Amino acid sequence: MLDLAALTHLLEQPQKIVITTHHKPDGDAMGSSLGLYNYLIQQGHHAKVITPTDYPDFLSWMPGNEEVIIYTEQPELSATLIAEAHLIFCLDFNALSRINEMGELVGQSSAYKIMIDHHLEPEDFDDYRHWNINACAAAQLVYDFIVNQLHHPELVNKDVATCLYTGIMTDSASFRLPNTSSTVHRIVADLIDAGAVNWRIHELVYNSASESRLRFLGHCLANCLEVLPEYNTAIISVSKEDLEKFDVNTGDTEGIVNYALSMASIRLAAFIVERRDKVKLSLRSKGEFPANEICKKYFNGGGHRNAAGGYSNGNLEQAVNQFKLILPEYKKLLIQ
Ligand code: 5GP
Ligand code: MN
Repeated sequence: MLDLAALTHLLEQPQKIVITTHHKPDGDAMGSSLGLYNYLIQQGHHAKVITPTDYPDFLSWMPGNEEVIIYTEQPELSATLIAEAHLIFCLDFNALSRINEMGELVGQSSAYKIMIDHHLEPEDFDDYRHWNINACAAAQLVYDFIVNQLHHPELVNKDVATCLYTGIMTDSASFRLPNTSSTVHRIVADLIDAGAVNWRIHELVYNSASESRLRFLGHCLANCLEVLPEYNTAIISVSKEDLEKFDVNTGDTEGIVNYALSMASIRLAAFIVERRDKVKLSLRSKGEFPANEICKKYFNGGGHRNAAGGYSNGNLEQAVNQFKLILPEYKKLLIQ
């Protein structure tokens, strides 16, 4: 175990540091990781961000992106860096299964592990934890770590601010989710003052779709959407063939589930997609409905109350049917 004083002391000397985050990184995963990276390199640390898998183009522009190592593309280099690291920062996840094969390497490493996360039920693999489920993003906690725990507000430069702004913006659904507190808005104001160009970041993340992504979205809404009014639930299910036909790339499916949730009466929306090896589910809900409970209980997953994910080992039809069979159990919550 490490306490804050010992961690602060360690960080006073240049260290070999690995920063990692969950597979298929989203805006918060990349924003929190690169935000921390841009902070650490200012102090002379030898820091590397290693992601378990690749991530979408709309997240590939943040400062430091060119230095990111993708485990699946450079497994040997990644393993060496993990083995040699003195500190490993684990951002936006709290279970080693979320970093795929890297989980074993990180678990075996003798490095100090620092978890900065906002998901429920953390596993016990860390030596220092900055964890708060009420935070709207891991990037919010990285800001708090730098400013309030390490007392380095002056090191939140334009690069750090840009990355952390991206993490908070994406995980709070552009400052719309209930956990977007006044504290979050104050942090975001600080980040803008520190150089984050808010309108430009929105452009880069949200207005960078390809034509195929837009046509794929049209296909999902026109042909793959099923509304179950008796459960105030909507499902969008997408087959492997659809993904191939529309040339769907990493990240192209992100956010589509929100269109299903945007109907007035809908309380629960599911995006169910047939990937190469398994069927992935993304659930979104409104208000008190616990989407993460369904993912945890039935789909080997988890997440937050209003945004959760998991997977099924059956085929697409089986996954959709399994999801529908669960709905009666939640009918009361769905129709209230
Ligand atoms: P998404 O639907 O965007 O993939 O994920 C939504 C939320 O659920 C994210 O916060 C993510 O961390 C969580 N999540 C997604 N897939 C899984 C999974 O397989 N296991 C767990 N524990 N959480 C997941
Ligand atoms: Mn997050």
